[in-house]
Amino acid sequence: MAPGIDGLPAAECEVDVSGRVADFLGSLPPRVLGRIRLGLRVFELLPFPWRFSRLDLATREDFLRRMERSRLGVYHELLLMGKVFTTLGYAIDTGVAGRIGVETSCRLADGSLPEPAGSLGDTQPRGEGEECDVVIVGSGAGGAVAAATLAEAGLDVIVLEAGESHDRENYPSDPLEAITALYRDSGLTIAAGRPPIPIPVGRTVGGTTVINSGTCFRAPAPLLEEWRQRFGIGWTNELGAEFAAAEDFLRVKPVDTERMGRNGQLAMEGAAALGASGGPIARNAGDCVQCSSCPFGCEIDAKRGMHVSYLPRAVAAGARLRTGVNVRQILTENGRATGVSAITLADGPQTSIYPTFEARRPFVVRGRVATIVAGGALGTPELLLRAGLGGRQVGRNLHIHPACWVGARYAEEVRGWDGVMQSYYVDEWERERLLLEATFTPLAFGGAWLPGTGREHQRSMLDFGQIGSIGVHLSDASSGRVSLAGDGSLKARYKLTRADADRLTFGIARAAEIHFAAGATEVYPNIARAGKLTPERLPEFEATSFKPSELRLEAFHPMGTARISADETEGVCGPDGSVNGVDNLYVADASLFPTSVGVNPMMTVIAFASRIASDLALSPSRGDLRRR
Ligand SMILES: Cc1cc2nc3c(=O)[nH]c(=O)nc-3n(C[C@H](O)[C@H](O)[C@H](O)COP(=O)(O)OP(=O)(O)OC[C@H]3O[C@@H](n4cnc5c(N)ncnc54)[C@H](O)[C@@H]3O)c2cc1C
Ligand code: SF4
Repeated sequence: MAPGIDGLPAAECEVDVSGRVADFLGSLPPRVLGRIRLGLRVFELLPFPWRFSRLDLATREDFLRRMERSRLGVYHELLLMGKVFTTLGYAIDTGVAGRIGVETSCRLADGSLPEPAGSLGDTQPRGEGEECDVVIVGSGAGGAVAAATLAEAGLDVIVLEAGESHDRENYPSDPLEAITALYRDSGLTIAAGRPPIPIPVGRTVGGTTVINSGTCFRAPAPLLEEWRQRFGIGWTNELGAEFAAAEDFLRVKPVDTERMGRNGQLAMEGAAALGASGGPIARNAGDCVQCSSCPFGCEIDAKRGMHVSYLPRAVAAGARLRTGVNVRQILTENGRATGVSAITLADGPQTSIYPTFEARRPFVVRGRVATIVAGGALGTPELLLRAGLGGRQVGRNLHIHPACWVGARYAEEVRGWDGVMQSYYVDEWERERLLLEATFTPLAFGGAWLPGTGREHQRSMLDFGQIGSIGVHLSDASSGRVSLAGDGSLKARYKLTRADADRLTFGIARAAEIHFAAGATEVYPNIARAGKLTPERLPEFEATSFKPSELRLEAFHPMGTARISADETEGVCGPDGSVNGVDNLYVADASLFPTSVGVNPMMTVIAFASRIASDLALSPSRGDLRRR
């Protein structure tokens, strides 16, 4: 895939790609690894009666080219898988990044370092277990905010997190190590379907907020009103105070258009030329002006993820955080949740930064008042399903905001890494349920989306500094389902409808228009049959109907798998976040959303968790436990 041209080193001869990728794959859970192994086997046998790895270089290159041009979806899926792994292993090489000219370093506008976050206390789980008023599973946007709210109300809180604690002192600098350390399944969680859609989620102290882009939107007011009326949740249209408090604490402010970087400015200029509405994105990263490496953890912690904001606040109010604790079961007695049982890593220093839970011991935490599940839209239904709690709707109604990376080549230098990762939004096509966001993806991820194979792909990589990119996000009516496989592991399926595929195609065309209006010479819609787009070819693209399976998508916002509704037959949780059919058990995370939220969800998760936790703290029956 990377033979080495124009000063770019050759894979294997000069850069050890397969060794790095093999180490990475070795850290995957067996189920995920099994799927990848199967894919690689099929890839190897595709040139039947020959084997791919035994072909000479020229024949392999030719075969890859034919795969790219093929009309068969399976060829494209396997080719993309190959490109993702090889680009990951190849692009992280300093020689490769140096030749392309990619330099990343995080920086605030005034060059200062954000002040240190408060302490997370002693996070080691000791002994056989602990007891508290409220035990919370998960330390992401929902869990961290619930913990701070309840601890500040005087309740004794324990937060259990499967991942380990990372911050600017110890984020792995190697992207492959970072992905393994910070993401569930090393970032390879995939919703099966046509097309299969990766849905990466965080697994570290602070959850997905550690690796997200820091974009902060409030859920649209009309949607919150619709949720109130349609799902009978009296408070969804009264979250103004919760949003405002979170924005203040997380120091949310719009990106400075002068300093956002060329990628955002091009989207802004293109949108302005078309008269499309939009604006600079509000973020929780203060005056950060560089560097587009948010998905690996912000090396200066400019981004106020939960690990440097609400969690230290919860700990300062008395909460205890325990890390490396993988909760396996919700405990119940006489129809009441009484806590959770978990496995933790064995005591003592870890030889690897990747928790495998191989050396494990049981750990039980009792919650006298309540148990809150905040494992995210994948982790929460996983626990509820394992415990058989919450009813028939658990795991259903999975929405993900399917998204397409629409890259473009510009004549000018863009150097997207010299700017803020997610910087400018366009909401002109809100009625079509589309939100476009200028998002520059780091080379290790974004490189795989570039067109071409072999030498042609390498040429695209050499021009990475001239690439601009816009993410097209759909507020999906399509849905999927999270369930448990026979071995108890998590499975996700998602069915993209034809109507939603058409909307995404429409969104890709709008992103292309913005790129062209800003001066792009060609656009990459990531649909094999469409090839590269030029302004002349755009009408033909728009006139073509593409099947859902032809789109190449990613999704970063799973939600809805334990949805809240006053109607028990429709939802998993009641309007106070309590799980149907069992007392003292609550959900406080993205699983609660009744439908797709349509904007980046973190702030809405925070507002929901804050409301549910405050109501729980104020509940009359908890009075004797508060401020003891
Ligand atoms: C690459 C990326 C970029 C994103 N960018 C943005 C953005 O810019 N703006 C935005 O609004 N949203 C963004 N999001 C989404 C946003 O971060 C999430 O919607 C939000 O964090 C969800 O909050 P949550 O509490 O539901 O789950 P999470 O934040 O995912 O937290 C769940 C936590 O629970 C833990 N957990 C799960 N199961 C267990 C268990 N059994 N035992 C112990 N612990 C467990 C997990 O390890 C995890 O730490 C992005 C997401 C991704 C993947
Ligand atoms: S772009 Fe992301 S990683 Fe870079 S400084 Fe800003 S918040 Fe940090």
